[in-house]
Amino acid sequence: MLELLRDARSVLDLQRALAGDLLPAGPTHDSAAAPDDMAPDLFGDLPDPAHDPDRSPYDRIEALIPEGSPLREMDSLQEIFDWLKGTVLVPIDENRINPVLGDGPEDADLMIVGEAPGADEDKTGEPFVGRAGQLLNKILEAIEFERGEVYITNILKSRPPGNRDPEPEEVAAHIPVLYKQIALVRPKLLLAVGKSAGNALLGRSSSLGTLRGKFHDFHGLPLLVTYHPAALLRNPQWKRPTWEDVKLLRTRYDQLAAGTGRE
Ligand code: URA
Repeated sequence: MLELLRDARSVLDLQRALAGDLLPAGPTHDSAAAPDDMAPDLFGDLPDPAHDPDRSPYDRIEALIPEGSPLREMDSLQEIFDWLKGTVLVPIDENRINPVLGDGPEDADLMIVGEAPGADEDKTGEPFVGRAGQLLNKILEAIEFERGEVYITNILKSRPPGNRDPEPEEVAAHIPVLYKQIALVRPKLLLAVGKSAGNALLGRSSSLGTLRGKFHDFHGLPLLVTYHPAALLRNPQWKRPTWEDVKLLRTRYDQLAAGTGRE
């Protein structure tokens, strides 16, 4: 199963298969429901909206949500939360105390994405409130962000039992929620903490050493991946590269705020 995550298309296929199991079938993007601006190419194929550089990053990311998912019709974070609370997408959703959607301003310029809620987050319904969260707050402070100005969320919205690693099926079932959050919040910049979050977004299975230290292009949005704060608690020698990464993040954020950051 892990092999599937090596290939972004496989994750998409998995999502579509899961959506097909759980949801009524909707039109596919190569059906007659295609919008007017999606003209077929020379070979009669329609462009994949998620990879169409003429669309905004938010449209492209929203296009990753499987056809037929109720998320496609939602237009507020509250609506997503209400739906999530009453929905079982995968078995871990049955065992949680609270779903953890996210926290922060609905128009934050920076979005931070972790792996999954832990025990403290499951109890409170808030992301990153335990020890890892305290360290995340310090990291943010070090680059002069207040936690309250950043939107913080996770790939999974339910706690995996015993904090085990997310299963590919769980990622495929929950990640469309994150796509919708990005489409609604419209951050300028994404920071994934931990290799699991970075790989889930990028459809890879790379080491953190390979992922960190540079910006990736996530459907038109700059995405930086760095160490997870929980990993830093266990491996303080990774604090220095994390510091290098978050300085890069701050610099790019300031460039974007000044209107000079997009290549
Ligand atoms: N670890 C995460 O990845 N997310 C949380 O919300 C808490 C701990």
